[in-house]
Amino acid sequence: MITDVMFHSLRSRSQLIPVEDLIRDCAGSRMPEIIPELLTAPIAAAAAEVCPTRAITTDTPVEGGCALRLDYGKCIGCGRCVEVGDGAIRPAKRFSHSGVSRSELVQTWQTGSGVEAQAGEMHTSARDRVYALLGRALNIRQLDPGSCNGCEAEITALTNPYYDLERFGIHFVASPKHADMLLITGPVTRNMATAVQKTYEAVPLPKLVVAVGACGCSGGIFDRRNCPVGTLVNLNEEIIGPVDSLLPVHGYIPGCPPTPAMLVSGILEVLNRYTGRK
Ligand code: SF4
Ligand code: SF4
Repeated sequence: MITDVMFHSLRSRSQLIPVEDLIRDCAGSRMPEIIPELLTAPIAAAAAEVCPTRAITTDTPVEGGCALRLDYGKCIGCGRCVEVGDGAIRPAKRFSHSGVSRSELVQTWQTGSGVEAQAGEMHTSARDRVYALLGRALNIRQLDPGSCNGCEAEITALTNPYYDLERFGIHFVASPKHADMLLITGPVTRNMATAVQKTYEAVPLPKLVVAVGACGCSGGIFDRRNCPVGTLVNLNEEIIGPVDSLLPVHGYIPGCPPTPAMLVSGILEVLNRYTGRK
């Protein structure tokens, strides 16, 4: 009976994930993490060799060392670099590069003396900032101009009781005319370019654009510039490129797909950076 379900639900312990556990959590995304003190030139070279999207590259070896460059915007979380990483590359549990600028998605480590740029402070009182900026909830219109729908599956989870995006004063809306933010997944296909442009123009000012997933950030596996010929699905001529090939983008959320926690962290980070911007 439905009443039994309701009573059982009311008696059960809350499963809502606390904000502090959600922010920067990336478990399950398979995003790689570099352990600088263990990184050696042979490991860096091996990782660059196996990376199918050229997310990992190295410079020319100098004095026995080299720099490993990791572009999280191109990473599809395949785990190949972890397999050859010999402990110096492992799946990340915390991820601070969600909702940042495109250039901040690219990190460089020098073998022997690793360095990594620090992300900005995460603002946890997002609801207050949203209300201060808009005087109401933030409305998001999600747009898919070419995604495989993997990113959509994770975005859908944002509204379930476990992640509960609405607790931050953030809602999804059906019309771009009601939106403050466009959340765009997938590479932009030629067939959808006009629709993307018109949707963007329909969003009233001030508006924010967030590129989601490896495809939204860099074109992912669908952009032939990312993948060596013959390695992955890189044959489609109908791809224009990542979201920023068509629109100004305020924040990038990498991953293939990004987990719901990475999406929440990224959206809050973009809001934190652009509160008050017109
Ligand atoms: S795509 Fe990402 S996980 Fe796969 S090898 Fe490249 S950097 Fe590593
Ligand atoms: S980033 Fe990955 S999951 Fe998202 S649309 Fe591209 S291929 Fe699909």
